[in-house]
Amino acid sequence: MDEEHAAPPRPRSVAVLGGGLAGLAASRALAASGHHVTLVERRRFLGGRAFSFHDEQSGWEVDNGQHLFMGCCTAYLDLLSWAGTRDRAHLQPRLKVEVVRDGTSGTIASTPALGPLHILPSFLRYPHLSAREKLLAAYALLRMRNTDRIRDRERLDAESAYDWLRRHHQSERAIANLWNLIIVPALNDDARAVSAEMALMVFQEGLLRTPADAALGWSRVGLTSLAGEPAHAKLSASGHDVLVGETVRSLRVDGGRVTGVELGRGRVIEAEAYVSALPFDVLLEVLPPDVASDPFFSRARGLSFAPIVGVHLWYDRTVMDGDFVAFLNSPVQFVFNKSAMHGAPAGDGQYVCISLSAAWDFAEQRAERLEQIFSREMERLFPRAREARIRRCRVVKQPQATFRPRPGSAQCRLPQATPIPNLVLAGEWTDTGWPSTMEGAVRSGTLAADRVDAEHPAP
Ligand SMILES: Cc1cc2nc3c(=O)[nH]c(=O)nc-3n(C[C@H](O)[C@H](O)[C@H](O)COP(=O)(O)OP(=O)(O)OC[C@H]3O[C@@H](n4cnc5c(N)ncnc54)[C@H](O)[C@@H]3O)c2cc1C
Repeated sequence: MDEEHAAPPRPRSVAVLGGGLAGLAASRALAASGHHVTLVERRRFLGGRAFSFHDEQSGWEVDNGQHLFMGCCTAYLDLLSWAGTRDRAHLQPRLKVEVVRDGTSGTIASTPALGPLHILPSFLRYPHLSAREKLLAAYALLRMRNTDRIRDRERLDAESAYDWLRRHHQSERAIANLWNLIIVPALNDDARAVSAEMALMVFQEGLLRTPADAALGWSRVGLTSLAGEPAHAKLSASGHDVLVGETVRSLRVDGGRVTGVELGRGRVIEAEAYVSALPFDVLLEVLPPDVASDPFFSRARGLSFAPIVGVHLWYDRTVMDGDFVAFLNSPVQFVFNKSAMHGAPAGDGQYVCISLSAAWDFAEQRAERLEQIFSREMERLFPRAREARIRRCRVVKQPQATFRPRPGSAQCRLPQATPIPNLVLAGEWTDTGWPSTMEGAVRSGTLAADRVDAEHPAP
């Protein structure tokens, strides 16, 4: 056969297991470098832990929990651009967060002209710290900025954020009124329970680089419409196989290689390489027991999950202004004005979501009880809520919202490459250096695809 009529080279087949953001990012990158992808997802839709569903009674597309990102989440924003939905996500022109404690309002905001020191002025004006605490907070920020997180990783991973902050002269009050305000929603746990490495990561990457990195962003549509659905359409349209509603039951490993994936009803798929973008607990379940218990994979057994609870309230009138407010000294942590964030026309009531991180206590309580607690608390915090009627309340509990970045957890996060040459790992829990975030998930997927490329270059 002459060259002109030679059959085009056959793309290598890669099976991507798990259709969360990590699986989507891996599929996108593998497809771009010429591989043929078969993406397998247990649920009937893609997007994983960042999803939305239709709430019949309110008519709204409700997220499984409020998801925020920051300007520094470049890989996530790039994924949205690929999916064609970047314009459905909003990014603040500059960081601005209102923080209320016992009726006194303060603001954490960027002053862009100051470059990397952009948040210092708002720290100095912040009303929830004493003058001395503000100076010490500025000192701790500078110490954070000058810490080489990569070089000191082992030491920072072993220490809690709380111990690091105390060592750097932060009072209990400063930890409650300032540091935990950022640590709890970003890492889904208290400063006492997270590693200094992860806390410093959040401050260094999010707040101490450029003002643009610090801006907060959110979806203006339901999360499934933002990433899961458009990514599904895009991959299918370019000839890749997206199998939804298919559960991975087990991986076949033979002669040190993965030889197939067993799905439900006896179906088996085979590929040249496999990317697991499954949560760590599922991966450990679907690997053959002797593989799951080898020293490499069993490190992931040290990981665990933390819950997030969302209390969604539909009022018959406007009860709050602005996009969102953070509260100190209240069981309410953040209240999001979903009507405003989604650009819903004003007039017909208001939809708000109370987001509760590290919500072990609330996750155990009945929805009716949570409605009682939080509708009363909303009346205390927002005078207009006292006159308003709640048309609907829906509680969404996500017990396995994020992995816990506990002190010592760095060694439980596995790298992309595994001892099995044709099995590569993705998932926000893998060793990306990022906490459990959409950005971490996307980065892990891209890293996994790079790894497949290195081992199995597309022809
Ligand atoms: C309520 C809530 C709020 C959050 N808030 C934020 C936030 O504000 N900002 C932020 O950045 N991040 C936030 N996160 C975290 C973020 O959503 C996750 O870190 C990220 O989506 C994880 O993506 P992933 O692809 O790594 O994992 P997952 O999304 O868990 O993807 C794994 C996929 O594998 C599938 N699967 C599982 N078992 C099988 C099986 N046996 N066979 C086939 N498929 C299987 C799952 O259905 C899932 O789709 C939040 C999470 C929750 C739940």
